[in-house]
Amino acid sequence: MLTGDLEDLDVLIVGAGFAGMYAVHRLRGQGLRVRAYDAADDVGGTWYWNRYPGARCDIESLEYSYSFSEELQQDWEWSRRFPEQPEMLAYARHVADRFDLRRDIVFATRITSVTFDEGDGRWLVTTDRGQRVRARFCVMATGCLSVPNVPDLPGADRFAGRVLHTATWPAEDVDLAGQRVGVVGTGASGIQCIPLIAQVADHLTVFQRSANFSVQGLNVPLDPELARERKAHYGEYRERARRSFGGMLLRQNRVHALTASAEERDREFSARWGLGGFEYMAAFDDLIFDPAANDLAADYVRDKIRQIVRDPEVAATLTPTDHPIGTKRICVDTDYYDTFNRDNVTLVDVRRDPITEITETGVRAGGRVHELDILVYATGFHAMTGALLAMDVRGRGGRRLADHWAHGPRTYLGLGMSGFPNLFVVAGPGSPSVISNAFVSLEQHVDWIGDCLAYLDAHRLTTIEADPAAEDDWVADVNAAAARTLYPQANSWYLGANIPGRPRVFMPYVGGVGRYHKRCAAVAADGYTGFTLSA
Ligand code: NAP
Repeated sequence: MLTGDLEDLDVLIVGAGFAGMYAVHRLRGQGLRVRAYDAADDVGGTWYWNRYPGARCDIESLEYSYSFSEELQQDWEWSRRFPEQPEMLAYARHVADRFDLRRDIVFATRITSVTFDEGDGRWLVTTDRGQRVRARFCVMATGCLSVPNVPDLPGADRFAGRVLHTATWPAEDVDLAGQRVGVVGTGASGIQCIPLIAQVADHLTVFQRSANFSVQGLNVPLDPELARERKAHYGEYRERARRSFGGMLLRQNRVHALTASAEERDREFSARWGLGGFEYMAAFDDLIFDPAANDLAADYVRDKIRQIVRDPEVAATLTPTDHPIGTKRICVDTDYYDTFNRDNVTLVDVRRDPITEITETGVRAGGRVHELDILVYATGFHAMTGALLAMDVRGRGGRRLADHWAHGPRTYLGLGMSGFPNLFVVAGPGSPSVISNAFVSLEQHVDWIGDCLAYLDAHRLTTIEADPAAEDDWVADVNAAAARTLYPQANSWYLGANIPGRPRVFMPYVGGVGRYHKRCAAVAADGYTGFTLSA
């Protein structure tokens, strides 16, 4: 229905990545009038934007995918163990076609403000194209890694060459052949693109502020026998992932590293290194909890770096010593360390030789200018809260979300906030989110929200809102879960520590996906305890 120029929806969804896409499908399927908005001109979210060379997922394709449709999961064929960005985007597009999602998605449109109207209990939403929409419910499927971080380096706009960011890489081919390329940043994005850029560039200069732990990916073509077996029992495998710690089917060894013998440890770490990927951190059960156990796992990788990198000084610079392994998201690479054995690659330690300015011709660090044709920022994101705070979100009494979260994100179960009725967040802060398999987490959230909206309608209720006390308790639970681990010891984006001036608060819930799902289900089964429901 149109009221003047004001259109009425049941549910407005922000974002058409995998979370928003599933929200469109699921909520529309229960008879709600829904619409999603996205700044991109097609579906895919993070997989739409992150097109840099080497971009790929670090979770296995047979797990990093939707489970809501048996036909979809049976029909779709993955080509490799870890899906590359083009394949993830093709999958997103296939899902959009298959379930006819685009008819309820508005592309190339950014949401600018989201304001709760206490008069009629609805959200008033505006876009950068001047549209105004009214909705009973808002679902924020905004992604955790969607607002790029561009460092504020002196002279940045003087550079005469081309500037790129891994998170906004152009869709058309970028010709790096024969170019002098600089990459700032050695997180997962840098670690994936550096080996490929080195293969084509005339010269690559890597500006590293912190060395990161990376394990080999071994991204082999997917074994058809494995895919067949998995598909034959997909339901069981998906259920196991939902009950697991991280939403993945890792072979978690229940033995503690500190009780194992030196030989057992060595055997296990080598076997895990040989498996590739996140299996490494599942080698023992205490690695993310006990600093001494963690050191053993870290030392094994540090030894690997020394074995791979021929120049001992370069190897030392690449060796992480400032955080426990796994407390920043461990990177999964193809030939990352070996790339530094190439003659056309230079590593600059910007802790020792800080970047003092960007000049017209390159980057000045340690008193010398590194001449460049192309400068690539692989400098990450305003993670977890960035997209939510980029919109002007105002709840009851005009309270800004930015004020509610001034000291770090506060949520109840990661799903809702007190003072922001009928507004849900999908897989954001306060939930397993980035510590888990995103598909497991986003499907659980969207299903929970769908069930909740059906419950409200069935009971002739109009409003659901988190109680302040429940929110306080949940924030304490999120902090307590993090404090039981080594995660808070790293200056990671999990804590907002990558952005100067942000409050240092551990944002995701690390108490485990299985435990979290049970808690959300119990809250719903008990009539939404911790939320106030009203007619
Ligand atoms: P990131 O992990 O935040 O890494 C950013 C890098 O830029 C860090 O090395 C950081 O150094 C450096 N940096 C930032 N500001 C700088 C400055 N002013 N000067 C010098 N260096 C600076 O970001 P990301 O690599 O894009 O990855 C973010 C997350 O996205 C990953 O952890 C992962 O969850 C996800 N991701 C996943 C994949 C995958 O599936 N394989 C691939 C890419 C991204 P410090 O460490 O010192 O801050």
